[in-house]
Amino acid sequence: MRGEIVSVGTELLLGHITDTNASWLAQELSKLGIDCYYVSQLGDNLGRLTDHLRLAWSRSDLIVMSGGVGPTEDDLTREAIAGLLGEEMHVVPELEADLRRFFERRGIQMPERNLKQATRIASARTLANPVGTAPGWFVERDGKVIVAMPGVPGEMFRMWEHEVVPRLQSLAGQAVILTRTYKVIGIGESAVEELLRPLLASENPTIATYAKNDGVHVRTSAKSTTVHEAAIILDGMEPDVRAVLGHAIYGTDNQTLAGVTIARLASRGQTVAVGEEFTGGLISSELQEGGHDHFAGGVVSAASAESVGLDDVASGAHARALDLARRVASEFGADYGIGQAADLAPRPNASPGRHTHTVLVDATGHELARSHRLDTTAPRIIRTRAVLNALNLLREHLISTDG
Ligand code: ATP
Ligand code: MG
Repeated sequence: MRGEIVSVGTELLLGHITDTNASWLAQELSKLGIDCYYVSQLGDNLGRLTDHLRLAWSRSDLIVMSGGVGPTEDDLTREAIAGLLGEEMHVVPELEADLRRFFERRGIQMPERNLKQATRIASARTLANPVGTAPGWFVERDGKVIVAMPGVPGEMFRMWEHEVVPRLQSLAGQAVILTRTYKVIGIGESAVEELLRPLLASENPTIATYAKNDGVHVRTSAKSTTVHEAAIILDGMEPDVRAVLGHAIYGTDNQTLAGVTIARLASRGQTVAVGEEFTGGLISSELQEGGHDHFAGGVVSAASAESVGLDDVASGAHARALDLARRVASEFGADYGIGQAADLAPRPNASPGRHTHTVLVDATGHELARSHRLDTTAPRIIRTRAVLNALNLLREHLISTDG
């Protein structure tokens, strides 16, 4: 089945909102094994919308639309579909009654123009919308399908899941695509790709790398007739991926670096405390989410000590990080203390970068590990990297000392 996605709304074209509906739907189509060949965005204009639908209808078996099903004059999705198929929109009495009841319950007079939300064409079935006023349409004609849903993401997600997926599953050829993502830290994307080179030619599962905020993602995708079969295909490649990347893989799918680090601490019944300067509490915040019992506490120190200077100021940040690590380990009675600090690293004719330092100490303040990086991108990104780096310093120490 060939599908395509059409997002409707002038706001999208003005750049006021991002088309998150389309990215979400694209992933959903892939899960259903429906190939998605086009994603388009259109404004609230009947002529262009109808022309576009004509094109989409000529090349796709399934058109999934979101937006433009509201009551206002610039909500034109229904009109465009009716125009494309040359069918009349007529008011459906039960839908009208539902709509009037919806307004009555809220004690408001229904504006007459809302009545168009109770309309349908002959080829359409109604997709219920218990969380909003606009029902969707599931249109079937000439072996093709058009799905029209509200633009409001919450209403769209619900309608898709409860109303659309079951209908599509009974039509589509049952193919399933399953993915598994390995999350890698400490190796850059091109190096990861180089290491995986022997696997890249594989067609089922396929394998691809993506640089993300929390490291490099290695995504494997398998296509099969059942979820179970697809999982077996993914399992087949797992040992090869792990053999190449080893401990650089910190987790899979929804796992986070903080989550897996806390889980390692938990299995040893240990705790960690954090003292931060440049990262301003972000490491603590990550660990807090990872699990309260093994995060003993955190301190944020003002970054006023950060100084512009020559390369030797870097040693200043290391000293402050060590000091912070010792302070928090003792103050919170933790098994480990992480200290983090940074110094400005001025470069001629360029925005300054940062020397970021992380130190890991044990309960007695003895230094167990340290890391120093020179980063020269935007401070916000350097901060994100410093957080990952700090969490990974602890994770690697725990791995290397696990029995
Ligand atoms: P309504 O009944 O609320 O008018 P509608 O189907 O007409 O619903 P739109 O008016 O197009 O939907 O969009 C309503 C809101 O939903 C937008 O202001 C926007 O916040 C959100 N929205 C619409 N389309 C998208 C999209 N493609 N991606 C993300 N958000 C969207
Ligand atoms: Mg609208």
